[in-house]
Amino acid sequence: MTQGNLPLRAKVATQVSRTAAALSRAAGRGDGSVIGGWIGLKIDPDLLEHLAAGRAIALVSGTNGKTTTTRLTAAALGVLGPVATNSFGANMPTGHTSALAKAGDTPFAVLEVDEHYLPQVIEETRPRVIALLNLSRDQLDRAKEVAMMAQLWRTTLAKHPEVAIVGNADDPMIVWAAGNSPSVTWFSAGQRWQDDSWVCPECGSTIERQDGQWWCTGCPLRRPAPQWVVEDDGVLDPTGAWHLIRLQLPGRVNLGNAATALAVAAAFGIRPLQAVPTLSSVASVAGRYAQVDRDGRNIRLLLAKNPASWLEAFDMADNAPTLLSINARDPDGLDTSWLFDVDFSPLRGRQVLITGDRAYDLAVRLDVNDVPFRHVQTFGEAIASVPPGRLEVIANYTAFQDIRAELDRVN
Ligand SMILES: [Zn+2]
Repeated sequence: MTQGNLPLRAKVATQVSRTAAALSRAAGRGDGSVIGGWIGLKIDPDLLEHLAAGRAIALVSGTNGKTTTTRLTAAALGVLGPVATNSFGANMPTGHTSALAKAGDTPFAVLEVDEHYLPQVIEETRPRVIALLNLSRDQLDRAKEVAMMAQLWRTTLAKHPEVAIVGNADDPMIVWAAGNSPSVTWFSAGQRWQDDSWVCPECGSTIERQDGQWWCTGCPLRRPAPQWVVEDDGVLDPTGAWHLIRLQLPGRVNLGNAATALAVAAAFGIRPLQAVPTLSSVASVAGRYAQVDRDGRNIRLLLAKNPASWLEAFDMADNAPTLLSINARDPDGLDTSWLFDVDFSPLRGRQVLITGDRAYDLAVRLDVNDVPFRHVQTFGEAIASVPPGRLEVIANYTAFQDIRAELDRVN
């Protein structure tokens, strides 16, 4: 359905939603996508469904990498025409509603979806393709069990055989969740964090791993052969052709995200040769990976919000002075005991600075891991403590936002 053909209530709701978002932006309250979508859905509870109708839609969900993969996928789909997307990470139905209302008529949409909302958003947007990235523990004190999330997805996807799945062959939880779907394209991007998938979700037996393969010791669940594979600095496609991937984003993790974007694009009929050049246009994503020059230091921001993403951040960071910042406010989760799930030893040999509300929890953790560090009170003190050159900043959610605010909302 184009927006010109929307029912009257949906038309009004769309207009009010856009106006509210614009007002919120003008008032300096972020990008306005949550409030705009919220008001629109109050006026027309079916607004997301109305706005999604007639578009070819890809959804992207998983614990980590959603925002970046969504951005890369939207860039790739841009080959075909205008793409609506929630590029600021507002990944619940309010954010989706706002993104579609704001974009106007577009033939395509790529939407990042919070794991918990995936069943609802599938019902309302009727996607053509869903990319499933990974499932691991998020903040301990508010996460559903990883296996429960996999079960929820599995049940939901079984009801939607018409949807093409693009799934991560290296994550047993994803393979099981997509197990009843008739159309799955598998990609391999590696799984650095494995502590949430030692036990088979199907039968409870142990999962074994060797040489990149994994298999259940008690039932037939095992790693499927992937069609898209990260290899060296590029991606192998299903025909066996290898494509060099040049990204502005760091780390092997982002090569995996690029492979996912190429696989989703292929499900829309886009060849890798068309899609690959678009990926290099993506620089920072909602401030992540942003680089800022200040007093001769090149500061790079890496967001790490749960154990799996801390490991990824260590992989992305250069061997350079590193500032770690941890808060434990509501969006971060209040419990910092997850720090003990992460191996900080990759930081040995680097100059390490710590700050944030929970710097002392971090201090205990680093001490146990034999990583020397220094505590700084402010971001300015951190900059003054390191020599000119690269400063890597790894921070969890609200700590990241604090630092971004200090750097004048870099993007
Ligand atoms: Zn099993």
